[in-house]
Amino acid sequence: MTQDILDTVVKYAGQTNSHKVVTIVLRLGALRDIQREWLQYYFNFIRKGTVAEEAEILVIVNPIVFSCRACGREFEIERDRLYDEDIACPDCSSKNYILISGTEFRIEGIEVV
Ligand SMILES: [Zn+2]
Repeated sequence: MTQDILDTVVKYAGQTNSHKVVTIVLRLGALRDIQREWLQYYFNFIRKGTVAEEAEILVIVNPIVFSCRACGREFEIERDRLYDEDIACPDCSSKNYILISGTEFRIEGIEVV
């Protein structure tokens, strides 16, 4: 996925006749946030010699949000709580819910010069 980001950014720089990528804004779901350090490390490695060599990576983290199928309530869960608690809807205590946010992984913006 990191390679995909680099490919997209380099392609964008080419299309806009830019010689340098200044900032890359990524939107990451909190469930993917665990990969952040690894992502930066790997990205620093693969971007050497590209227009994105000195780009700053900004990460916007989306919260983990569930939607209750029983009552429709949307509720947010901290990542830490996912593993040590039984999650239930805060309104109706139902455990029938779906994940609607938290796994995003996309480029939100690219700044070039
Ligand atoms: Zn509910």
